Amino acid sequence: MNIHQYYPIDVVNGPGTRCTLFVSGCVHQCDGCYNKSTWRLNSGVLFTEEMEDRIIADLNDCRIPRQGLSLSGGDPLHPQNVPSILKLVKRVRDECKGKDIWIWTGYLLSELTAQQRDVVDLVNVLIDGKFIKELADPSLLWRGSSNQVVHKLR
Ligand code: SF4
Repeated sequence: MNIHQYYPIDVVNGPGTRCTLFVSGCVHQCDGCYNKSTWRLNSGVLFTEEMEDRIIADLNDCRIPRQGLSLSGGDPLHPQNVPSILKLVKRVRDECKGKDIWIWTGYLLSELTAQQRDVVDLVNVLIDGKFIKELADPSLLWRGSSNQVVHKLR
């Protein structure tokens, strides 16, 4: 998996103070996408074991308490990203007690594959659906257009 950006301290993408990872790769091609540069799977830089270790360490850093991890992009549930994302969310569950995980995807919860569901089964909140320009509303919390749904899963 490749990534575009990692913010070790973020107060914009989800509730509270968080770590946020923007991954590469998205097939949805939404008109008005805010992050077109992430569409290509091979854009950005390789997500390494060191990067994964750093996220775990940042989430456990008590000097700046984080509420959890946000995964966005690109699309963290792009089929080619799923193995790396699954490994990461499993580690967060095992090694970062009490931290929540939020994921943004262009897929619909109802259409996920078994592999994508394995990831979603471990996260707290999934925001699903493509961005639809005609339904865009800046007053919405955690989503760009009103068709998207914030699913609180646990
Ligand atoms: S799902 Fe997100 S990243 Fe992908 S095209 Fe749509 S708005 Fe852009």
